[in-house]
Amino acid sequence: MPDKILTDTPHKPALTGCSLAEMEALFAPFAQPPYRARQVYKWVHHHQAQSFEEMSNIPKTFRRELEDHFSLASLTLAAKEVSSDGTQKYLWQLRDGKRIESVFIPEETRTTVCISSQVGCAMACEFCATGQMGFLKNLTPGEIVEQVIRLQQNTGRDITNVVLMGMGEPFLNYPRVIEAGKILCDPEGLAIAAKKITISTVGVIPRIYQFADEGQPFSLAISLHAPTQELRRQIMPVAEPFPLDELMKSARYYTHKSRKRITFEYVLLEGVNDSPAEARALKKLLSQLRCKLNLIPYNDTGVGFRAPSEERILKFAAEVESASFAVMLRKNRGNDIAAACGQLYVKAKEREKPRFMKPLHPEIQL
Ligand code: SAH
Repeated sequence: MPDKILTDTPHKPALTGCSLAEMEALFAPFAQPPYRARQVYKWVHHHQAQSFEEMSNIPKTFRRELEDHFSLASLTLAAKEVSSDGTQKYLWQLRDGKRIESVFIPEETRTTVCISSQVGCAMACEFCATGQMGFLKNLTPGEIVEQVIRLQQNTGRDITNVVLMGMGEPFLNYPRVIEAGKILCDPEGLAIAAKKITISTVGVIPRIYQFADEGQPFSLAISLHAPTQELRRQIMPVAEPFPLDELMKSARYYTHKSRKRITFEYVLLEGVNDSPAEARALKKLLSQLRCKLNLIPYNDTGVGFRAPSEERILKFAAEVESASFAVMLRKNRGNDIAAACGQLYVKAKEREKPRFMKPLHPEIQL
C-alpha cells in the first residue's frame, strides 16, 4: 500500500493535537459559528483528514482560510523500515530538525503503536540507548498525537493500543502527555479506549501520586528492572532521588486509589538482574500489590549488556511465577529492522494469557 504522507507547511501552525478549546481560540478571528471548531477538531482527529478539501461540512470559503493559515501535519517522514514480521519503524523529523521514532506492531487481535514522548531522555538508564542521548526536548501534544494519526494513515489499520514506550520519560512531560492522551481517547478524537493507552514511567514518584489523585483513565506501567534498591541504583540513576521502597509505596497508593493493576516491566540483563535469587526477591516484592509482570529479554544495543540465554530466562520466569500476579514473557518484534535498537524499545508480542505458560519455546524469539 502506498504511503500516504502529509506534507508539512512549517510556517503554519498544525491543528493536529489541538484541543477543542485551542481550536476555538484559533478560529475566533474568522467569525465562524461556535460549532465550527468542533467540526474541524473531528475532521483532524476522528476522520484524520489529509486535506482541508475533504472537510465536506465546512463551507468552502472557510476551508480555504484554514488552508491559508493552518497545517494538518508537523512531522515529516524521514525513514521507514518494515520487518518480516510486519512490525514497521518510522523515523519522523520535527520542524526543528530533531528526530523521533514510532513503531507499528500489528497482531492478530490488536494493533499497537509505540510512540515517543520526548526527544532523547534525561533518565540515563545504563542499558537504554535513548538514555545515552541525553534529553533534547519535550514533545508537544500535537507531536505525540500525530504519531498515532500518521501510523494509522500509513498502514490503513485501526490502532487499538498505544504504549508510551518510545523515546523519553512520559512523566517528565506530564501535562503534554495527559493532554495528548485526552485527544487519543476522546470519542470525537481518535476514540482509542483509555485503558488501552499505557503510560510507562521509569518511576517518577510525584507524578505517580498525581496520576492516581487525578483519577487518570489511562493504564500505568512502571519500569522496575531490579528487585532491590542497591541493584536498581546501579542500572537506573533515577533510583537515587526516587528509591525503590518509596516507589513501591506510590505504586500501592495507585492500585488502592484506582482499583487498577500496574504493569511492571523487567528487562532481563545477563548476569545483572537475572539470578534465581533476584527472581525470588522480585516475586516477594510484587506479591504485595495488584499487578502483572512483563519480562522482557534485553535487546542488544551495544551498550555492554546482553540478554540471558533462553534457558536462564525460562528459569527466571519459572522462579518468579506466583499465584498472586500474572507473568508475561515478551517476544521481541522487528529485530531485523532494529526496531528495538534501544532508542526505541519495541513492545513485543505478548499474548494476554492469564498466567505464564510453559513450554514457551515456540513463542519466544530470543
Ligand atoms: N521512560 C519510560 C518509557 C520508555 S522506555 C520508562 O522507562 O518506562 C520503555 C521500556 O523499554 C522501559 O521499560 C525501558 O527500560 C525498556 N528498555 C530500554 N532499553 C531497552 C533494551 N535495549 N531492551 C529492552 N528493553 C529496553
